[in-house]
Amino acid sequence: MTIRDKTDQPERSISQAIINGLRCNCPNCGETSLSQGFTTVKDSCDNCSQELSHHRADDLPPYLIIFIVGHIVLSVLMVSMKYNLFEICITAIGGSLIAVIIALALMRSVKGMIVGLQWALRMHGFDKSL
Ligand SMILES: [Zn+2]
Repeated sequence: MTIRDKTDQPERSISQAIINGLRCNCPNCGETSLSQGFTTVKDSCDNCSQELSHHRADDLPPYLIIFIVGHIVLSVLMVSMKYNLFEICITAIGGSLIAVIIALALMRSVKGMIVGLQWALRMHGFDKSL
């Protein structure tokens, strides 16, 4: 899916930008890492010089991760409690650890996906015509 706007700017593929973001790569070229450190997005791409400081991912990645992790962990906990797979304290501690591990594992990819989506939709300064 691509977005065609009224200006003469080239089309940007939303799906490719999301895939590049999920791989934590630049949404424009997909060649180099999007971030420096754990979740800090670089000011610009080292490969294609795409300006990346315009992103405004803000709190959306944590909200999405809470939504995803909540559904996974609650499902596991409900199955565990229904069939008495483990003691309740083991279930609570294990569920908490699983939630933290999944959240940390998803953080970079989800943030990259949001930055890629903003880039593809020309949001927050990614639109050169403004
Ligand atoms: Zn790039």
